[in-house]
Amino acid sequence: MHDDAIRRIVIVGGGTAGWMTAAPLAQRLARHPTQPCEVTLVESPEIGTIGVGEATLPTIRAYNEALGLDGADFVGKTQASFKLGIEFQDWGHVGNRFFHGFGDFGPPLAGYGAHQHWLRLAQAFNHMPVLENWSMPSVMARHGKFTPPNEEAPGVTDAYSYGFHFDASLYAAYLRDYAVARGVRRIEGMIVDVERHPESGFVTAVKLGDGRRVEGDLFIDCSGFRGLLIEGALEAGYEDWSAYLPCNSALAVPCASAAQLTPYTRSTAKEAGWLWRIPLQHRTGNGHVYSSGFTSDERARRVLLDGLDGAALDEPRQLRFVTGRRRKSWVKNVVAIGLSAGFVEPLESTSISLIETAVGKLLELFPERDCRPELADEFNRVMRIRYESVRDFIILHYKLTKRDDSEFWRYCADMAIPDSLRHQIELFRETGRVAILDHGGFAEPSFVAMMMGLGVVPKRCDPLAGRVDIRVVHGHFAELRDLIARAVAGMPDHGAYVARQAAPS
Ligand code: FAD
Repeated sequence: MHDDAIRRIVIVGGGTAGWMTAAPLAQRLARHPTQPCEVTLVESPEIGTIGVGEATLPTIRAYNEALGLDGADFVGKTQASFKLGIEFQDWGHVGNRFFHGFGDFGPPLAGYGAHQHWLRLAQAFNHMPVLENWSMPSVMARHGKFTPPNEEAPGVTDAYSYGFHFDASLYAAYLRDYAVARGVRRIEGMIVDVERHPESGFVTAVKLGDGRRVEGDLFIDCSGFRGLLIEGALEAGYEDWSAYLPCNSALAVPCASAAQLTPYTRSTAKEAGWLWRIPLQHRTGNGHVYSSGFTSDERARRVLLDGLDGAALDEPRQLRFVTGRRRKSWVKNVVAIGLSAGFVEPLESTSISLIETAVGKLLELFPERDCRPELADEFNRVMRIRYESVRDFIILHYKLTKRDDSEFWRYCADMAIPDSLRHQIELFRETGRVAILDHGGFAEPSFVAMMMGLGVVPKRCDPLAGRVDIRVVHGHFAELRDLIARAVAGMPDHGAYVARQAAPS
C-alpha cells in the first residue's frame, strides 16, 4: 500500500447517517485483501439518535442493492412497507387532494411527455383530464395494490418505481450488524474534545470522556444537528433557509396500525404546517411539522393527536431544527453526512436520499491522506446543487398555495422565493416546460404532479407536441387508461404482498 493511502477512517455518530456511511465503507475497505483500512464508528448512547426518518425515495433500493441486502430479509427486519408516492391533502386549498407518485404519466407520445398532450386535450375540449388516471402509481395507490414493476414487460407494468417506509431505528441496527460483520469497529463513548494538527488544521483524533483517543486520517461527521466536527471544530458555517421554509419544529408519535396498510405516505396540510402518516407493519408513524412562529407547541400537539387514525402508542416527542445547509460539508479531512450537513423538512422524504448521494460521492471522490482541496470543492459543489434543488422543490409546495385561512399560509403565499424557483414556476405557468437543474434530483413528472396538483395549469403547451394528430392523442390516452386499469386489477393488495415478503422462508 502506498504511503499516502488513508488507513484509518473514523465515523462520528451512529444514527441513520453513520451506519449508512459505515456499511458501504466496510464492504469496500475494511477487509480489503491488499489495502485494508480500519473503519471505526463512535456513538454515544447518552446522546442517542434522532430516531425518525421512516419514508424514503426509490433511490434507497439502489443503495440496498449495492450492499447486496436480501430484499425479503430487509422488509421483515425493518418492518417495512412499500411506498408508491405521497398523497397530499388540503395542500393548495382545503379539500384539495392529489398524488405525487414515483413514475411518469405513461410513455411519451411522438417524443413528447404526456402532460404536453393533456394540455393540448384540455385546450381542445376545454376540460382538463384527471391526470392521475394515467399514472400507474396513483391508480395502484388508490386501490391499495402493490407489486414490483415488471421491467421485462415494457409498457404500463414498468412505468413506476417505489421506495420503502421502514422503522428508522431498525434500519440503522440492520446496517450496523452488516457493517460490524464486515469489520467495522464500534466504540461507545461521548466525544468531549477534537484534536487538530497545529499547522494543517486537519483533525487528528477525537477524545472520549473516559480519556480514550480515537485517531484517524479521514473523519466522517455524522453527529447530527450539532455538527460536532464540521461546525464545532472547523466552523464551516450554516446557511439558514428559515425565511423560505418557516417550519422549525416537529412532534412525532407512533400509533396502532390502521386496518389497511396503504402503499403511500400521506401528507395533510394544517393551519401552521402539516401532518405525516407513514404506515409500517407493526405501527403507523405520525408527525406534525410546524412553525413555532405561527402556533404553540400545545396547539400543535392537539392537531397531531386529533389526526391519528389509531391509538397513540407513546407520548409525542418534540424535535427542533433550523432548515438550511452547511456552507461546506467537506473541509480539510472532515466530511459531514446526514443532519450535520443540513436539513430540509421531510415533506418529500429527501434526507435519507441526501445521505445516499453524499456517501456515493465520497466513494467516487475518495481522497488520499492529503485530502486534496479540489476533491472537497467538487463534493461541496455537487452537494450544494443537490440541497438547493431539494429546497426549491419543497418551497414550491408552500408557495403555490391558495390557502389564506391562517397567518402561516398567508406568509407562505407572500414570501420571497429563490430566483431559481421563480424561474421554474413562471416557465411552467407560461409554457408547460420544466427546468431540470439537478439531474439526480426530482424529474419532470414530479414537478408536473406537484404544480398541476397545486393548481398551476400552463397557459400553453409545446407547439411541436401540438402538431400531433389529436385523434391519435385521444386514442393513446383511452388505451393507456384501460391498460392501467387492467394491470392494477390483477395486482395483489399491498398488505398481502408485504405479509408474503416478510414471512420467514
Ligand atoms: P442522528 O440520528 O442525530 O445521529 C447522531 C449520532 O451522533 C448519534 O449516534 C449520537 O450518539 C452521535 N453523537 C452526537 N454527538 C456525539 C458525541 N459528542 N459523542 C459521541 N457521539 C455523538 N428523513 C427521511 O429520509 N425520511 C423521513 O421521513 C424523515 N423524517 C424526518 C422527520 C423529522 C421530524 C426529522 C427531524 C428528520 C426526518 N428525517 C427524515 C431525517 C432523518 O431522520 C435523518 O436524516 C437521519 O435520521 C439521519 O440522522 P443522523 O444520523 O444525521 O443524526
